[in-house]
Amino acid sequence: HNADFMARRAAALPRGVGQAHPLFATKALNAEVWDVEGRRFIDFVAGIAVVNTGHCHPRVIAAAQAQLTHFSHTCFQVVAYDGYLRLAERLNALAPGEAPKKTMLVSTGAEAVENAVKIARAFTGRPGVIAFNGAFHGRTLLALGLTGKVDPYKLGVGPFPGEIYHAPYPCALHDISVDDAIHGVELLFKNDIEARRVAAFIVEPVQGEGGYYPAPAEFLQRLRALADKYGILLIADEIQTGIGRCGKMFAVEHAGVAPDLITLAKGLGGGFPVAAVVGRAEVMDALAPGGLGSTYAGAPMACAAALAVLDVVEEEKLCERALAIGEHMQRRLREMATSHKCIGDVRGLGAMVAVEFFHDGDPARPAPEIAKAVIAAALQRGLLLLSCGSYGNVLRLMVPLTIEQAVLDEGLDLLAAAMDAA
Ligand code: PLP
Repeated sequence: HNADFMARRAAALPRGVGQAHPLFATKALNAEVWDVEGRRFIDFVAGIAVVNTGHCHPRVIAAAQAQLTHFSHTCFQVVAYDGYLRLAERLNALAPGEAPKKTMLVSTGAEAVENAVKIARAFTGRPGVIAFNGAFHGRTLLALGLTGKVDPYKLGVGPFPGEIYHAPYPCALHDISVDDAIHGVELLFKNDIEARRVAAFIVEPVQGEGGYYPAPAEFLQRLRALADKYGILLIADEIQTGIGRCGKMFAVEHAGVAPDLITLAKGLGGGFPVAAVVGRAEVMDALAPGGLGSTYAGAPMACAAALAVLDVVEEEKLCERALAIGEHMQRRLREMATSHKCIGDVRGLGAMVAVEFFHDGDPARPAPEIAKAVIAAALQRGLLLLSCGSYGNVLRLMVPLTIEQAVLDEGLDLLAAAMDAA
């Protein structure tokens, strides 16, 4: 039973390893997950925005298995292999902006963020990094320093590396305009760090953990312009938004912006741990040989899986599918909003979709208890959901892009029923 596993877990693991749902999985296929009690759940969170190509996509699994018939490991920095090389070439060709591009691989999103900042500092010779309020960039110390939210991530684990600054992220719902956000950056230049000492901006094209707020295209364009004006690099953290999730291979493509560096993880490996920094070749070359890498960076099986993921995204037209899924979900959610006044906002970019709950439709009165109740009622009915945002009052929906229409509709019906019950 799940309860037995949960008791063993409490004894064996630190409580800092949180868990949203009291479930232990035995099987997962496309958009469905089964637990140790044999119950089936529709997965509206794709692991955690990871399996854009669905759980256990047969081509991804076959590619990983095929790699294992050859070898499971050599360290790429000792004896190289072509999977890493092919994945780098593929990402270089896909990334927006002028060629030439270069790519380095690691295993997790936080590592990709750390390396992007190292590369930006090494290239510019400057210390400063500007991130945004509400940002989430990972749980290592530098990535935490960039992260905006304190509770629970940053509690009691500082100090964080220096020369990190935060500016407002634009959000119409909370009356923060693009002008306000850009003005916030300019204020930092005036009061906190000279523009010419800033190495990089790091920005999520859609703020993920922070509440699923898409950045207005104009904001990303104006950040790009500020970066160009002062010789600052623009890092797009596409760990959650990339690989088709938002209806383009990279979400920044919606704004027509080419970052200097892009971080990728989550969807890239389709369930296998691989992450990347892709960027302008001259920038990527800033560190001396040996300055980049790690033991398992770009592990052979993960590279094979990622190459299959990219094939599947292209051949199954998952970018188009993400747009269609997003439109369909937003339409259904707006229908639900007509009978649920607590739904204060429905928004998204592609298949990164959010519902935000307020009391009396007032954005100043977030309603995390409603999100909690909906998540619990959905779980009882066989639907996996997660919340996000500073108050936990946002439901984030990130279904596998390969989800069958019937399963998507079944999940949406369960969500409507959960809202009625909550
Ligand atoms: N950056 C963004 C935008 C993320 O959403 C996440 C994970 O949620 C990370 C970085 C950290 O990635 P990882 O958990 O793989 O270290």
